[in-house]
Amino acid sequence: MNKIGIDLGGTKIEGILTDENYQSITRKRIPTNQDEGYNSILESIKDLVQELIQESNEKVSIGICTPGALSINSGLIKNSNTQCIIGKNIQNDLKNILHQEISIENDANCFALAEAKLGAGKNSNLMFGVIMGTGVGGGIIIDGKIHRGRTNIAGEWGHHCLHNDGNSCYCGSKGCVETYISGPALEKKWLELSGLTQSLPEIIQNYSNHNFNNWKKLFLDNFALSLSNVIDILDPDMIVLGGGLSNIDFLYDEGTNAVYDKVFSDMVNTPIVKNELGDSAGVFGACLL
Ligand SMILES: [Zn+2]
Repeated sequence: MNKIGIDLGGTKIEGILTDENYQSITRKRIPTNQDEGYNSILESIKDLVQELIQESNEKVSIGICTPGALSINSGLIKNSNTQCIIGKNIQNDLKNILHQEISIENDANCFALAEAKLGAGKNSNLMFGVIMGTGVGGGIIIDGKIHRGRTNIAGEWGHHCLHNDGNSCYCGSKGCVETYISGPALEKKWLELSGLTQSLPEIIQNYSNHNFNNWKKLFLDNFALSLSNVIDILDPDMIVLGGGLSNIDFLYDEGTNAVYDKVFSDMVNTPIVKNELGDSAGVFGACLL
């Protein structure tokens, strides 16, 4: 059976049609049009799926990668940066308009699944995938399957607490990982230290600024604490980094060493590696559901 994977993003909706071996047959991308509301997004996905189906000579499975978490009780989306889908049962609604079963999963789990099966984590039994970008999230893959946990929150790494009574998070807690090592959090910290409003790529280039080492040390301390917690609990075969921050080279040498320093073991060598699929992890992850 051919596969269709749809990656629902804040600004674009991307779709891919693959054969049963996940080789791409065709790809399409359309804008999300969040302003026009939820029904417009459903219609866009429907049009995109139908265009892709036309290029398939056999039946297809359909998977959707969505921002935000899915409530296991209600099937409703919560905590999504595509705000008009919050509180909606997108799985049911799409099933009704497409007249077939749909699989749906959040973007961090899709990323982790795609990297574990088709990307950097191919040879690992237990892989932890991390997205570090505008938001921060994680996904656990065990023997090629997403580990969702009893209440569907396994791998919600971005909202475990790093600092008691720390930075306030939109989720209602304080000290969450996301409030320290997401792109916006790091830019905010840089502004606080240097007085400069710069994007993360600009900050990385600004290493001669006398505040840079201090900023980087705080960043690496938090990166190390957040991932050493994961290694202590899961002891994964591999950690794969994704999202915009995965392009920061020092995470793979100094960052990795900082993680190892905090792990509760005298023998730690967990590979911390960059993703291989880049922006395509979402659509491939959706195909794999
Ligand atoms: Zn939080």
